[in-house]
Amino acid sequence: MSRSDELFQRAMNVIPGGVNSPVRAFRAVGGTPRFIKSANGAEITDVDGKSYIDYVCSWGPMILGHNHPAIKEAVIRAAENGLSFGAATELEVTMAELVCSVFPSVDMVRMVNSGTEAVMSAVRLARGATGRDKIIKFEGCYHGHCDFMLVNAGSGLMTSGVSGSAGVTEGCARDTLTAPYNDIGTVEKIFEANDGEIAAVIIEPVAANMGVVLPEEGFLDKLRELCDKNGSLLIFDEVITGFRLGIGGAQERFGVMPDITALGKIIGGGMPVGAYGGRRELMELVSPVGGVYQAGTLSGNPVAMAAGIAQISYLKEHPEVYARIDDLAERLFGGLKKIVERSGKHLAVNHIGSLGSLFFTEGSVKDYNDAKRSDTAEYGKYFTHMLDRGVYLAPAQFEAMFVSCAHTEEQVQKTLEAAESFFQK
Ligand SMILES: *Cc1c(COP(=O)(O)O)cnc(C)c1O
Repeated sequence: MSRSDELFQRAMNVIPGGVNSPVRAFRAVGGTPRFIKSANGAEITDVDGKSYIDYVCSWGPMILGHNHPAIKEAVIRAAENGLSFGAATELEVTMAELVCSVFPSVDMVRMVNSGTEAVMSAVRLARGATGRDKIIKFEGCYHGHCDFMLVNAGSGLMTSGVSGSAGVTEGCARDTLTAPYNDIGTVEKIFEANDGEIAAVIIEPVAANMGVVLPEEGFLDKLRELCDKNGSLLIFDEVITGFRLGIGGAQERFGVMPDITALGKIIGGGMPVGAYGGRRELMELVSPVGGVYQAGTLSGNPVAMAAGIAQISYLKEHPEVYARIDDLAERLFGGLKKIVERSGKHLAVNHIGSLGSLFFTEGSVKDYNDAKRSDTAEYGKYFTHMLDRGVYLAPAQFEAMFVSCAHTEEQVQKTLEAAESFFQK
């Protein structure tokens, strides 16, 4: 029995499903989750001593690769001064100034501890600012696990939302209306049917939680227009896209400005950090200035801030990182596309910048319904084939692949060769 198997058996006994986040389980692909002992650059090593080229990258945060010296040193230095004070620190000011300096729509920002908290707080702010209850989200977009975001069940059009999770009250789901991604007509109809009641539209400006799905040309601009016309706020959940599609995220890349931005993942450099920010007059509605309450004992934690500052500063000072990861990703996803085409299949490969997905379905994937057509059993076989050859992909079809600037051309080549041997079978 491998050490991972042993640990998994112990874990199953004391942790639900043996994991602290369901995306780590191998239920969708079969097999035992690998327990990771260490990571360096683009490689992770499990407790059995086996190394893998890592395309999960902690689900995004490790854009500079694992164990980056600048971040490690910043964390060690900060830890020497004490782990938490529950009082204001200089690091928090530095972090806020950094975030405001790179996100065009953000004048002020509040730190929290996860992407979930960032979204939850952003939506509360939108409701507080507008005095309205309802929000529109898109099917297949994930915005963390707070109650009113666990709604994506189809045909939400003009009807009440139905939660995809047990334990969410009807009341909570009722105010979340859903539309298919890229379907502006449905969004218009929801606005018409709920005139003066929509507090906000929330979207992943590039969807990366149903596999990667790009916004069609003009879709984000039209959402911006609809929100303005209806006095509603536009929230970009940039928990994945922020600092990844460019230092200023999707808003900078597409030139569409949201009212509120939710951040997470990369912002913490590997530590648990989230943040939400926006225009000054909106953010001044947040407590203790305004009446929208939001707090956090460990928010802005000095060690977490040190890690985040180190990572964001590095990205800001090395803009060539983005050219590098985009180039590596182009090789990877371009290569995958050629491989599947040569095999006579026409599987969808969606990608933008260093984010991408290979869907086990033919034809274009532009929304959740398209993504759901994927052959997940086939993905499971592909996943296992790649894992056996030292390539660690997300253990589920509907997750993105993340490229870091620690990946090398050789590693991408090795990955493509492993994929080629799968598709030649
Ligand atoms: C991961 C993610 C979240 C939730 O962040 P957590 O830190 O896991 O709570 C929210 N939105 C998006 C787009 C995400 O990818």
